[in-house]
Amino acid sequence: MSESPFPRLALFITGPTYVRPEIRAAAQWPEFGHRDAENDRRFAPALGNLLTIAGARADGYEPVIFNGSGSTAMEASIRSLVADNETVLNVSVGAFGDLYHKMAKANGKNAVQLRFENGQAIDQVVLRQALNEHAPAVVTFTHNETSTGVVNDMTRVCKLVRDAGAMALVDGVSALGGTPVPLAESGCAFYAASTQKALALPAGFGIGFVSPEAKAKAETVDNRGHASDILNQLGRAAKNQTLTTPNCALANQLYAQTEHIVNTEGVENRLARHEQMRRQVKEWVASMDGYELLAPSGHRSPTLTCLVAPDGVSVADLKKTVKEQMRRKGYLFDPGYGKINASREEKGLAPLLRIGHMGDITPDMLAGYLQDLGGVLAGL
Ligand SMILES: *Cc1c(COP(=O)(O)O)cnc(C)c1O
Repeated sequence: MSESPFPRLALFITGPTYVRPEIRAAAQWPEFGHRDAENDRRFAPALGNLLTIAGARADGYEPVIFNGSGSTAMEASIRSLVADNETVLNVSVGAFGDLYHKMAKANGKNAVQLRFENGQAIDQVVLRQALNEHAPAVVTFTHNETSTGVVNDMTRVCKLVRDAGAMALVDGVSALGGTPVPLAESGCAFYAASTQKALALPAGFGIGFVSPEAKAKAETVDNRGHASDILNQLGRAAKNQTLTTPNCALANQLYAQTEHIVNTEGVENRLARHEQMRRQVKEWVASMDGYELLAPSGHRSPTLTCLVAPDGVSVADLKKTVKEQMRRKGYLFDPGYGKINASREEKGLAPLLRIGHMGDITPDMLAGYLQDLGGVLAGL
């Protein structure tokens, strides 16, 4: 079967994201043995490129590729870096911050949560109080909250955490490849990412960056599991390998895409393109009667934008009418994060909708999408 039985939609959701034809084609490159020298030819450059994309080539951070997804990397950080007699403080500004807390509890860790309202960023005064109150050994937070389009000030938050004598584990799943990642400058202990968001690859690998301090700490933590043990993972990563058998098609694509990002597009240009799209959506929202940006100025994500719909627009309008009309135009529209919209509807608040503008989406593609979306929303 060579012809696809499925339609091609331009994905303007917040992951998985649009994959360029060149990267789709790289999935057809030869399969290989993951303990053979051919493996090195893919993963050695890819791991180096990932460090470059994270701005941490020379700072002692070690990159790891997990089979799984962003969650796999996040859960490994909990299993490997939080000891049983310690407290982990999970700081959350939305659904993905809540996910880190859920993982900590599900793994039997002594976890407390500091929760800010959806749409808000981490308030540093409140964080400082919580650090004093709970004296955590480990703090988790979300760099770029995909459920609300809020980006936290990673460097400042990590500094507060470090000043309190704790280690910071950062969920950067929707940030890496589209948002500046001040890895070394922040001093975070672990940074988690994945392939299917701003790196514009299919899903299938989690990515972790492990600091030397985190590596030393893991030695002291019991019951790290097997695939969730970052030391097991690091042992293989040092040989440019994955701990378990990787998806060869995705490995070929990871090589092709990270070479493109580092050597063809350039990391600075890629980040500038995302910043341009952030501004582009902001200007479009200003032209859309009744629609507002959710995130406060200074905390608006370069990889996605979350809008508040005007009163009178319902969740059903977005999930059915808008989504299906956009599908007929060849797009996949994002009607907002389900749980957040359900709770807003209960409180009588208008729903949120999201526009993903990450990865390899271009300002031209985005302009076309916004024009079509504007027309559909105006017709509600
Ligand atoms: C998508 C996402 C996750 C979950 O990642 P998976 O790759 O689906 O496991 C976690 N955190 C954030 C911020 C995300 O955007």
